[in-house]
Formats: sequence, C-alpha cells, structure tokens
Amino acid sequence: MSDKAIATPTRTTEILKKYGFFFKKSLGQNFIIDVNTLKNIVTTAGVTKENGVIEIGPGIGALTEQLAIHGKKVVAFEIDQRLLTVLEDTLSKYDNVEIIHQDILKANVQEVIDQHLNDVEEIKVVANLPYYITTPILMKLLMNKIPVQDITVMIQKEVADRMAAKPNTKEYGSLSIAVQYYTEATVELIVPKTVFMPQPNVDSAVLHLKLRKEPPVYVEDEELFFAIVQASFAQRRKTLSNNLGRQFKEKWSKDQINSWLEEINIDSRRRGESLSIEEFTNIANMFYSKIE
Ligand code: SAM
Repeated sequence: MSDKAIATPTRTTEILKKYGFFFKKSLGQNFIIDVNTLKNIVTTAGVTKENGVIEIGPGIGALTEQLAIHGKKVVAFEIDQRLLTVLEDTLSKYDNVEIIHQDILKANVQEVIDQHLNDVEEIKVVANLPYYITTPILMKLLMNKIPVQDITVMIQKEVADRMAAKPNTKEYGSLSIAVQYYTEATVELIVPKTVFMPQPNVDSAVLHLKLRKEPPVYVEDEELFFAIVQASFAQRRKTLSNNLGRQFKEKWSKDQINSWLEEINIDSRRRGESLSIEEFTNIANMFYSKIE
C-alpha cells in the first residue's frame, strides 16, 4: 500500500480506478483531494490523542486518515455499501478506526458511542458532510443532545453563514437561532471548490460549533419558543405584530399580542431579523404565561 496520503489527486484517482468507483451525486459525494485542507480542518477541530472522533461520510477515507493519525479513536458512519471494501483497504494500517455502515439520520448515535467510544475522555464530531442533508444531520445531533464537546464540519458556505449569523443581517433567521440555542457557532475557513473531486457547484466553509452546557437563555417551553421564532421569520418583510398575529390568531387577538410585546419593551413594529435570542425568549415566556 502507498505511503502517500489518500487526499491527493493521484492517489484518489488510483483508488477510484482500482475499485471502478463512480460518484453518486445523490449521496453528496465530493471527496477532498488536498491534504492541507484536511490538516486545517483537524487543527480547527483541535483533535488530540485524548479525543474520540465521530465522522459522518468517510468516503474513501481522506479525512478519516488524518483523524486516525491525530485522534485516539475514530468512528465513521458511511451509508454507501460500495465504500466499505475501499475503506478496509485504504485505512488498513490504522487500527483505531471503526466504520459503521448506517445512514446517520437513522442511526442511534448514543448507542454507537456507548459501544465504541466508552473509553475516551472527550468526543468531537468532525466531517465533510454530504451537503444535501447538512441541516437535518446537525439538528439531529444537537436536538438528541449527544455528549460531544464540539462539531467541526465542512458545509455549504451559505448554510454556514446562516447558522453563525447575528441579528440584523440578511443571513439571520430561524436556523441561526436553532443552532445558537445549542452552540456557539463560528465560520472558521472558506474553502475553494478546487479541493474537491468532483467539484461542487457551491462554495464551502468550515463551521465550528462549540456545544453549550446549558442554553444561553431560560425557555419555559421549547416548542412554543421555536414556534415563535419560526413564525417571526415566516414573512421576513412583515412586522412581529403581523407574523405573530397570524400564527396565533386562533388563540389571541393582535391587540393582545401587541400589548404583551409592549409590556416586555419590544416594539411590535420590529421585524424578526432584529430580535436577539434573549428577546425571543422573553416573548416565548410571556406567551407561555398567558396560556390557560
Ligand atoms: N469524508 C470524505 C472526504 O472528505 O473526502 C467524503 C465526504 S462526501 C462530501 C460525503 C460522504 O457522506 C460520502 O461518502 C457519502 O457516501 C456519505 N453519505 C451520504 N449520505 C449519508 C448518510 N445519510 N449517512 C452516512 N453517510 C452518508
């Protein structure tokens, strides 16, 4: 077996040829062919020999290899059966990698952690995600509250910007609040299309999500909180009064809603995009106190 890293154009082409592998666009298969990009991801993630790492979508093992070199143990979920034999070959010299042939959206991640990562201090998620399911994957990991320290993922730049966005920007929306309720989100690196094979149509970025021990705010009813957030961005150009009035029209009158907003010092003519997570919390807890 070659000593060269998997993530070089020649080695990747060699591996693809050897196994007659063709890319499935439907599985978001864009492999990284640049070792520097991978090293930057591993550095951003801060992977050390203390860490267990969960990877989603190892492909032919380009990132997995770097994670195996820097981390203690790697557990990687891969949906594509064809890649299992390839990975067995490309990663044969690493004895700290476990490939799980499962769809990450259906997998019981906690069970896999209990089984394979019970001897590590801290767990990180590091991945070059399949772009067609970026948001469902991240929301699943966050909402299931899996015990990880942080998540470092390559995703579409546009989605990374929305996840890390601050109020009063055009990227800020319900996705920003959902992600920032659970994490501190930062866009760390912008990655050019040229480091992928085949090249994707969109720009990419590395997003770092540090999981919070507790949400930054105290929300009485999370479901109501997220319903209010969703409703406030339902029509971006409309005021809070209009968006919330419409969402809750079966329950409360617009006048009632406006007066409650006034009570907590929020002008009902503001738009959702100007509200902080704390202000959304105040609205949610105020509405909660009015439910009979
Ligand atoms: N990690 C490799 C790299 O960086 O070169 C490959 C990344 S590629 C963008 C995404 C990988 O996710 C592919 O290997 C694909 O088969 C896999 N994948 C797609 N959908 C998946 C799912 N639902 N569960 C697990 N893996 C999935």
